[in-house]
Amino acid sequence: MMRTVTEPARLRALLDEERRAGRTVGFVPTMGFLHEGHMSLVQRACAENDVAVVSVFVNPTQFGPGEDYEAYPRDPDRDAAMLADAGIELLFAPTPGAMYPEGFCTDVEVQGISDIMCGASRPGHFRGVATVVAKLFGIAGPCRAYFGEKDYQQLAVIKRMAADLDMPVEVIGCPTVREPDGLAMSSRNVYLSAPERAMAPALHRSLVAAADLVARGETDPARVRGAVLAVLAAEPSWSIEYVDVRDAETLAGVDGIDREVVIAAAGRLGRARLIDNVVVAPR
Ligand code: AMP
Repeated sequence: MMRTVTEPARLRALLDEERRAGRTVGFVPTMGFLHEGHMSLVQRACAENDVAVVSVFVNPTQFGPGEDYEAYPRDPDRDAAMLADAGIELLFAPTPGAMYPEGFCTDVEVQGISDIMCGASRPGHFRGVATVVAKLFGIAGPCRAYFGEKDYQQLAVIKRMAADLDMPVEVIGCPTVREPDGLAMSSRNVYLSAPERAMAPALHRSLVAAADLVARGETDPARVRGAVLAVLAAEPSWSIEYVDVRDAETLAGVDGIDREVVIAAAGRLGRARLIDNVVVAPR
Protein backbone atom coordinates (compact mmCIF):
# COMPACT_ATOMS: atom_id res chain seq x y z
CA MET A 1 0.00 0.00 0.00
CA MET A 2 1.35 3.43 -0.96
CA ARG A 3 1.17 6.16 1.68
CA THR A 4 0.81 9.80 0.74
CA VAL A 5 2.59 12.22 3.06
CA THR A 6 2.20 15.99 2.91
CA GLU A 7 4.18 17.09 5.99
CA PRO A 8 7.99 17.32 5.67
CA ALA A 9 8.58 16.29 9.30
CA ARG A 10 6.36 13.23 8.85
CA LEU A 11 8.29 12.04 5.80
CA ARG A 12 11.59 12.49 7.62
CA ALA A 13 10.31 10.48 10.61
CA LEU A 14 9.07 7.63 8.39
CA LEU A 15 12.33 7.45 6.44
CA ASP A 16 14.44 7.64 9.63
CA GLU A 17 12.47 4.66 10.88
CA GLU A 18 13.23 2.73 7.68
CA ARG A 19 16.95 3.52 7.96
CA ARG A 20 17.01 2.52 11.63
CA ALA A 21 15.63 -0.84 10.52
CA GLY A 22 18.57 -1.11 8.11
CA ARG A 23 16.65 -0.36 4.93
CA THR A 24 18.06 1.80 2.13
CA VAL A 25 16.04 4.67 0.67
CA GLY A 26 15.65 5.59 -3.01
CA PHE A 27 14.25 9.04 -3.83
CA VAL A 28 12.86 10.48 -7.06
CA PRO A 29 12.00 14.20 -6.98
CA THR A 30 9.51 15.27 -9.68
CA MET A 31 7.03 17.97 -10.58
CA GLY A 32 4.41 15.34 -11.43
CA PHE A 33 2.33 14.83 -14.58
CA LEU A 34 4.32 11.63 -14.79
CA HIS A 35 5.42 9.94 -17.99
CA GLU A 36 7.69 7.02 -18.90
CA GLY A 37 10.80 9.16 -18.36
CA HIS A 38 9.85 9.69 -14.71
CA MET A 39 8.83 6.04 -14.41
CA SER A 40 12.27 4.86 -15.55
CA LEU A 41 13.73 6.71 -12.53
CA VAL A 42 11.02 5.23 -10.32
CA GLN A 43 11.82 1.71 -11.50
CA ARG A 44 15.50 2.17 -10.71
CA ALA A 45 14.76 3.62 -7.29
CA CYS A 46 12.58 0.58 -6.53
CA ALA A 47 15.07 -1.93 -7.94
CA GLU A 48 18.13 -0.54 -6.15
CA ASN A 49 16.67 0.29 -2.72
CA ASP A 50 14.52 -1.28 0.00
CA VAL A 51 12.11 1.65 0.14
CA ALA A 52 11.32 4.17 -2.60
CA VAL A 53 9.80 7.61 -2.22
CA VAL A 54 8.69 9.94 -5.01
CA SER A 55 7.99 13.61 -4.45
CA VAL A 56 5.51 15.51 -6.58
CA PHE A 57 5.88 19.24 -6.10
CA VAL A 58 5.60 21.96 -8.72
CA ASN A 59 8.19 24.27 -7.23
CA PRO A 60 7.13 27.90 -7.67
CA THR A 61 10.61 29.34 -7.04
CA GLN A 62 12.18 27.77 -10.13
CA PHE A 63 9.71 29.49 -12.47
CA GLY A 64 10.49 33.03 -13.58
CA PRO A 65 7.93 35.80 -13.92
CA GLY A 66 5.89 35.15 -17.06
CA GLU A 67 6.84 31.47 -17.14
CA ASP A 68 4.33 28.63 -16.96
CA TYR A 69 3.97 27.98 -13.18
CA GLU A 70 0.17 28.33 -13.22
CA ALA A 71 -0.27 26.53 -16.55
CA TYR A 72 2.16 23.70 -15.73
CA PRO A 73 0.23 20.43 -16.30
CA ARG A 74 -0.97 18.70 -13.13
CA ASP A 75 -2.84 15.43 -12.53
CA PRO A 76 -2.29 14.32 -8.93
CA ASP A 77 -4.77 11.42 -9.02
CA ARG A 78 -3.25 9.89 -12.13
CA ASP A 79 0.28 10.39 -10.71
CA ALA A 80 -0.70 8.62 -7.48
CA ALA A 81 -2.25 5.70 -9.38
CA MET A 82 0.88 5.30 -11.55
CA LEU A 83 3.17 5.34 -8.50
CA ALA A 84 1.02 2.88 -6.56
CA ASP A 85 1.04 0.55 -9.59
CA ALA A 86 4.83 0.81 -9.80
CA GLY A 87 5.16 -0.35 -6.19
CA ILE A 88 6.21 2.95 -4.61
CA GLU A 89 5.84 2.89 -0.81
CA LEU A 90 5.71 6.64 -0.18
CA LEU A 91 4.45 9.63 -2.13
CA PHE A 92 5.52 13.03 -0.79
CA ALA A 93 3.16 15.76 -1.99
CA PRO A 94 3.71 18.92 0.07
CA THR A 95 1.88 22.20 -0.42
CA PRO A 96 3.87 25.32 -1.33
CA GLY A 97 3.07 26.61 2.19
CA ALA A 98 4.64 23.53 3.81
CA MET A 99 7.81 23.96 1.74
CA TYR A 100 8.04 27.75 2.03
CA PRO A 101 6.46 28.77 5.34
CA GLU A 102 6.26 32.40 6.41
CA GLY A 103 9.75 33.74 7.06
CA PHE A 104 11.55 31.42 4.64
CA CYS A 105 14.63 33.31 3.43
CA THR A 106 17.40 30.89 2.41
CA ASP A 107 18.71 30.31 -1.12
CA VAL A 108 21.23 27.81 -2.44
CA GLU A 109 23.28 29.17 -5.31
CA VAL A 110 25.62 26.91 -7.28
CA GLN A 111 27.90 29.50 -8.85
CA GLY A 112 28.99 29.49 -12.47
CA ILE A 113 27.23 26.47 -13.92
CA SER A 114 23.87 28.00 -12.96
CA ASP A 115 24.39 30.99 -15.27
CA ILE A 116 25.20 29.30 -18.59
CA MET A 117 22.96 27.39 -21.03
CA CYS A 118 19.39 27.28 -19.63
CA GLY A 119 20.48 29.55 -16.77
CA ALA A 120 21.28 32.37 -19.20
CA SER A 121 17.70 32.58 -20.47
CA ARG A 122 16.10 31.61 -17.14
CA PRO A 123 17.77 33.82 -14.51
CA GLY A 124 17.25 32.40 -11.02
CA HIS A 125 15.94 29.08 -12.33
CA PHE A 126 18.78 26.96 -10.98
CA ARG A 127 18.76 28.86 -7.69
CA GLY A 128 15.15 27.72 -7.31
CA VAL A 129 16.06 24.17 -8.33
CA ALA A 130 19.09 23.94 -6.02
CA THR A 131 17.14 25.38 -3.09
CA VAL A 132 14.17 23.05 -3.44
CA VAL A 133 16.37 19.99 -3.99
CA ALA A 134 18.49 20.93 -0.96
CA LYS A 135 15.26 21.08 1.04
CA LEU A 136 14.03 17.77 -0.37
CA PHE A 137 17.38 16.14 0.46
CA GLY A 138 17.17 17.59 3.97
CA ILE A 139 13.67 16.20 4.37
CA ALA A 140 14.49 12.77 2.91
CA GLY A 141 17.82 12.28 4.71
CA PRO A 142 20.50 9.83 3.59
CA CYS A 143 19.42 8.20 0.34
CA ARG A 144 20.13 7.54 -3.31
CA ALA A 145 18.44 10.18 -5.47
CA TYR A 146 17.66 9.67 -9.15
CA PHE A 147 17.64 12.42 -11.79
CA GLY A 148 17.25 12.34 -15.57
CA GLU A 149 20.05 13.20 -17.99
CA LYS A 150 17.36 14.91 -20.04
CA ASP A 151 17.86 17.88 -17.71
CA TYR A 152 21.62 17.61 -18.04
CA GLN A 153 22.53 20.96 -16.53
CA GLN A 154 20.14 20.39 -13.62
CA LEU A 155 21.87 17.07 -12.91
CA ALA A 156 25.28 18.80 -12.97
CA VAL A 157 24.07 21.55 -10.63
CA ILE A 158 22.62 19.03 -8.17
CA LYS A 159 25.71 16.79 -8.21
CA ARG A 160 27.88 19.83 -7.54
CA MET A 161 25.63 21.07 -4.73
CA ALA A 162 25.49 17.66 -3.02
CA ALA A 163 29.29 17.34 -3.20
CA ASP A 164 30.03 20.92 -2.13
CA LEU A 165 27.61 20.83 0.82
CA ASP A 166 28.53 17.27 1.95
CA MET A 167 24.95 16.10 1.59
CA PRO A 168 24.48 12.43 2.54
CA VAL A 169 22.89 11.71 -0.82
CA GLU A 170 24.22 9.72 -3.75
CA VAL A 171 23.04 11.53 -6.89
CA ILE A 172 22.46 9.12 -9.79
CA GLY A 173 21.91 10.21 -13.41
CA CYS A 174 19.58 8.13 -15.61
CA PRO A 175 19.36 8.03 -19.43
CA THR A 176 16.78 10.09 -21.32
CA VAL A 177 13.63 8.21 -22.29
CA ARG A 178 12.36 9.14 -25.75
CA GLU A 179 9.28 8.77 -27.91
CA PRO A 180 9.78 6.37 -30.84
CA ASP A 181 10.59 9.34 -33.12
CA GLY A 182 13.35 10.58 -30.77
CA LEU A 183 11.53 13.38 -28.96
CA ALA A 184 12.60 13.40 -25.31
CA MET A 185 9.60 12.76 -23.08
CA SER A 186 8.58 15.83 -21.11
CA SER A 187 5.52 16.95 -19.18
CA ARG A 188 5.64 20.10 -21.32
CA ASN A 189 5.16 18.14 -24.56
CA VAL A 190 1.38 18.53 -23.96
CA TYR A 191 1.82 22.17 -24.98
CA LEU A 192 2.61 21.10 -28.57
CA SER A 193 -0.09 21.40 -31.25
CA ALA A 194 -0.23 18.55 -33.80
CA PRO A 195 1.91 20.39 -36.39
CA GLU A 196 4.41 21.41 -33.68
CA ARG A 197 4.55 17.84 -32.40
CA ALA A 198 5.52 16.77 -35.94
CA MET A 199 8.40 19.28 -35.96
CA ALA A 200 9.59 18.53 -32.42
CA PRO A 201 11.83 15.50 -33.20
CA ALA A 202 14.08 17.78 -35.30
CA LEU A 203 15.76 18.87 -32.05
CA HIS A 204 17.00 15.39 -31.24
CA ARG A 205 17.77 14.70 -34.91
CA SER A 206 19.97 17.80 -35.08
CA LEU A 207 21.89 16.74 -31.96
CA VAL A 208 22.40 13.22 -33.27
CA ALA A 209 23.71 14.62 -36.57
CA ALA A 210 26.19 16.79 -34.64
CA ALA A 211 27.25 13.92 -32.39
CA ASP A 212 27.84 11.87 -35.50
CA LEU A 213 30.24 14.51 -36.82
CA VAL A 214 32.20 14.35 -33.54
CA ALA A 215 32.26 10.55 -33.62
CA ARG A 216 33.67 10.76 -37.17
CA GLY A 217 36.51 13.05 -36.08
CA GLU A 218 35.25 16.66 -36.03
CA THR A 219 36.93 18.49 -33.14
CA ASP A 220 35.82 22.10 -33.75
CA PRO A 221 32.93 22.99 -31.44
CA ALA A 222 31.84 25.83 -33.75
CA ARG A 223 31.36 23.41 -36.63
CA VAL A 224 29.47 21.03 -34.34
CA ARG A 225 27.14 23.86 -33.27
CA GLY A 226 26.75 24.76 -36.93
CA ALA A 227 25.62 21.22 -37.70
CA VAL A 228 22.85 21.46 -35.09
CA LEU A 229 21.72 24.85 -36.41
CA ALA A 230 21.76 23.61 -40.01
CA VAL A 231 19.25 20.85 -39.28
CA LEU A 232 17.01 23.17 -37.25
CA ALA A 233 17.14 25.93 -39.88
CA ALA A 234 15.14 23.61 -42.14
CA GLU A 235 12.29 23.85 -39.59
CA PRO A 236 11.41 27.58 -39.52
CA SER A 237 8.95 27.21 -36.63
CA TRP A 238 11.77 26.43 -34.24
CA SER A 239 13.08 29.45 -32.39
CA ILE A 240 16.47 28.41 -31.04
CA GLU A 241 17.53 29.68 -27.63
CA TYR A 242 21.02 28.18 -27.51
CA VAL A 243 23.18 25.42 -28.90
CA ASP A 244 26.21 24.65 -26.78
CA VAL A 245 29.12 22.19 -26.77
CA ARG A 246 30.67 21.70 -23.33
CA ASP A 247 32.78 19.39 -21.21
CA ALA A 248 30.38 16.58 -20.28
CA GLU A 249 31.62 16.48 -16.69
CA THR A 250 32.14 20.11 -15.66
CA LEU A 251 30.10 21.97 -18.33
CA ALA A 252 33.17 24.15 -18.97
CA GLY A 253 33.43 25.53 -22.51
CA VAL A 254 35.80 23.67 -24.86
CA ASP A 255 38.08 25.10 -27.57
CA GLY A 256 38.65 21.75 -29.21
CA ILE A 257 36.82 18.49 -28.66
CA ASP A 258 39.46 16.31 -26.99
CA ARG A 259 37.30 14.71 -24.29
CA GLU A 260 33.70 13.68 -23.77
CA VAL A 261 31.35 16.59 -24.48
CA VAL A 262 27.67 17.27 -24.13
CA ILE A 263 25.94 18.90 -27.09
CA ALA A 264 22.91 20.64 -25.62
CA ALA A 265 20.20 22.82 -27.11
CA ALA A 266 17.01 24.61 -26.12
CA GLY A 267 14.35 26.19 -28.24
CA ARG A 268 10.75 27.17 -28.49
CA LEU A 269 8.08 25.63 -30.60
CA GLY A 270 4.90 27.65 -30.10
CA ARG A 271 4.17 27.74 -26.36
CA ALA A 272 6.57 24.92 -25.54
CA ARG A 273 10.16 25.41 -24.48
CA LEU A 274 12.01 22.16 -25.22
CA ILE A 275 15.51 21.07 -24.26
CA ASP A 276 17.61 18.08 -25.23
CA ASN A 277 21.22 16.91 -25.26
CA VAL A 278 23.53 14.11 -26.36
CA VAL A 279 26.85 13.10 -24.88
CA VAL A 280 29.61 12.06 -27.28
CA ALA A 281 33.29 11.13 -27.01
CA PRO A 282 35.84 12.20 -29.67
CA ARG A 283 37.07 9.56 -32.10
P1 AMP B 1 10.32 17.02 -13.83
O1 AMP B 1 9.04 16.46 -13.30
O2 AMP B 1 10.23 17.48 -15.24
O3 AMP B 1 10.95 18.02 -12.90
O4 AMP B 1 11.33 15.80 -13.88
C1 AMP B 1 11.59 15.01 -12.73
C2 AMP B 1 12.78 14.13 -13.00
O5 AMP B 1 12.52 13.29 -14.12
C3 AMP B 1 14.04 14.94 -13.36
O6 AMP B 1 15.16 14.32 -12.77
C4 AMP B 1 14.07 14.83 -14.86
O7 AMP B 1 15.38 14.96 -15.39
C5 AMP B 1 13.55 13.43 -15.08
N1 AMP B 1 13.03 13.28 -16.44
C6 AMP B 1 12.14 14.08 -17.07
N2 AMP B 1 11.94 13.67 -18.34
C7 AMP B 1 12.74 12.59 -18.53
C8 AMP B 1 13.01 11.74 -19.63
N3 AMP B 1 12.42 11.89 -20.82
N4 AMP B 1 13.90 10.73 -19.45
C9 AMP B 1 14.54 10.56 -18.25
N5 AMP B 1 14.32 11.34 -17.18
C10 AMP B 1 13.44 12.34 -17.31
